[in-house]
Amino acid sequence: MCRNDASHVIVQWAIWMTGNIAVPLTPLHPPEMLKYFLKDSSAGLVICTQEYENTLRPLAKEISKPLLVTGRDKEITAQLYQPNNSFMKPKAENTLSDVGKTNAWYGRNDALLIYTSGTTSKPKGVVWTHSMLSSQIASLHAAWRYSAQDVVLHALPLHHIHGQLNSLLASLSAGARIRMLPSFVSHTVWARLLGMGERDETKATVFHGVPAMYAKLTADHSKMFDNPKTAEYVRATLASRMRLMCAGSAPLPDSLFQKWEEISGHRLLERYGMSETGMALSNPYRPAEARTVGCVGTPLPGVAARIAAPGDSGVLEPLVTVATPAADTRISLEQLGLAPKEEKEPEVEWRAPDVTEHKPSGTDVYQGELLLKGPGVFSRYYNRAPKPDDSDFTPDGWFRTGDTVSFAGGRFRILGRTSIDIIKTGGYKVSALQVESAILEHPSVADAAVLGVEDESYGEIVSAVVVLKEQATLTLKELKDDAGKRLAPYQLPRNMIVVKEMPRNVMGKLDKKEIRKLYGEALAVKN
Ligand code: AMP
Repeated sequence: MCRNDASHVIVQWAIWMTGNIAVPLTPLHPPEMLKYFLKDSSAGLVICTQEYENTLRPLAKEISKPLLVTGRDKEITAQLYQPNNSFMKPKAENTLSDVGKTNAWYGRNDALLIYTSGTTSKPKGVVWTHSMLSSQIASLHAAWRYSAQDVVLHALPLHHIHGQLNSLLASLSAGARIRMLPSFVSHTVWARLLGMGERDETKATVFHGVPAMYAKLTADHSKMFDNPKTAEYVRATLASRMRLMCAGSAPLPDSLFQKWEEISGHRLLERYGMSETGMALSNPYRPAEARTVGCVGTPLPGVAARIAAPGDSGVLEPLVTVATPAADTRISLEQLGLAPKEEKEPEVEWRAPDVTEHKPSGTDVYQGELLLKGPGVFSRYYNRAPKPDDSDFTPDGWFRTGDTVSFAGGRFRILGRTSIDIIKTGGYKVSALQVESAILEHPSVADAAVLGVEDESYGEIVSAVVVLKEQATLTLKELKDDAGKRLAPYQLPRNMIVVKEMPRNVMGKLDKKEIRKLYGEALAVKN
C-alpha cells in the first residue's frame, strides 16, 4: 500500500525483480477488508509507505506477517518489522546480486493479484501473469496508440485493473511520462488538464477516468467556468492538447458523453473491461466520429468475444463470435520516439474483427451472455478450486463474464450484470443501464439507479432511485413523460423514490447490493 506516486512503481518493480507477486492495496478500503486481502492472498510480506504504517501495522501484527515500511530518510531506506515486534534493517549485501529474472521466467510466472470488487460474493484474487500483462499492453498500444510523447494524468486508484493497466503499465511501457495525483480531486484534475503554470512538455495529453469522475468534472465545470469566454478557452485548450480521453469500468450515460463533447471537444473513447479480462471491447481510436455513444465497439486486438444463450436443453449455446487478430508485439522504434513518426496516422487502428454467426438471429441483433477468450484473459482465481458447475468457464474454455450484451450493426452494447441489471418484467427483459441513462437526461436528476422489485403480477417492476439536483423537484409522472421520449412504455419506471445520496463503491460504481439493502423496502412499499 503505497502513495499514488513513484513509490508505488518502485515497490511494484522491486517485487517483480525479486520474482514475487504484487497485491496492490488501497487505503480506500476499511481495515477489515485489508485484513481479508492479506490473509486470502497468503502474503509473505506487507509493504507500505510511511503514511500507511498506522493502518497496516496492527493488522500485520494481528495475523503475524512481517511489515516493511519504506522510508524517505537517506539513512534508513526501510524498516522491517518482524511478527515478534522487533525490527531490523534489510541486509545491504543482497541488494543487487540476486534480483532480476530471465524473460523466459517472467513468461511463465505470476505478476499480480487484482481483487474483484466482490459485488455479489467475497472479493476473489484474479491471478495476472506477466504474459497476460504484456499481451494486454501490446493490444492497448496497437488500439489507442500510446507513445513516448504522451503525458498521462493519473488519478485512478492502483488496486484496480483500470489504474494499473491502462493508466500506469501501458503508459510506462510506451516510455510515456506519468503525472500521478494522490487521489481524484476534481479541482486539481481541472488545473492539471488545463496545464496551469506548467511547462509545455509536462502538460497532460492523456486521461483515463471512470464515468463518475467525468460527471464530477462536468458538474464543477458549470460552476467554475460559467463565463462563456472562459468556457471557450477550456474547450479550445482540451480540444487541441489532449490526444486521448477514455472512459470505462462502468456505463457511460449518453447525456454525459454529449456534455463532455460540448465542454471539451472530445468524444470520450468508451471501452469495456473487467478485473478478470483486462480490456476487452473498445470503440475505435480513429476516426473519433465512429465512437458511438452507448456502445463499447468491437474486441481489442487478440480478444475473441462470443454471445451465448441457453438453448432448448438449457445448455449455453453460441450465437455469434467476434474475434480480432492479435496485435504485433514487436517493439517499434517509432513508438519509443527513436524514429521519425509517420506523417499521416493510419485511419484504421486495428484490423476489422472476424464475425462468425452460429445461429441466424433473424433480426441481426444478437443478445445474451458475453463470453471472452484470449491471451490477456485470466485462467484462475487465487486459492479457489475451479467451479464444478461451469459458472466461471465453459467446458471449451470461454470465460463467462456474467454481463448481458447485444451485438448489432458491428458493435457491442453492454446491457448490465445479468444477475442484477436485467429486469424481467411482464415477459420483457429490461436493461437497468439503458433506463438509468435515459433518466439521467432529465434536467432535475443528478444521479439514478434502477432496480427490479419483486411483484406478483409482473415478476419484477422497474423501479428508480434518484438523487435530484439542488432545489429541483420531480414527480414520477414528470419523470415518465420525459423518459418516455427515449424509452418504450414497458421500460419506464413504475415507481420512484428520491434519496439524498447514492451508494457507490471506491471505483465510483453504483453499489446495487447496498442500494437494494437501503432502499429496497421503501420501493416495495411504493409498489
Ligand atoms: P471490474 O472487474 O471491477 O472492473 O468490473 C467489471 C464490470 O464492470 C463488468 O463486468 C461490467 O459489468 C462493468 N463495466 C466495465 N466497463 C463497462 C462499460 N463500459 N459499460 C458498462 N459496464 C461496464
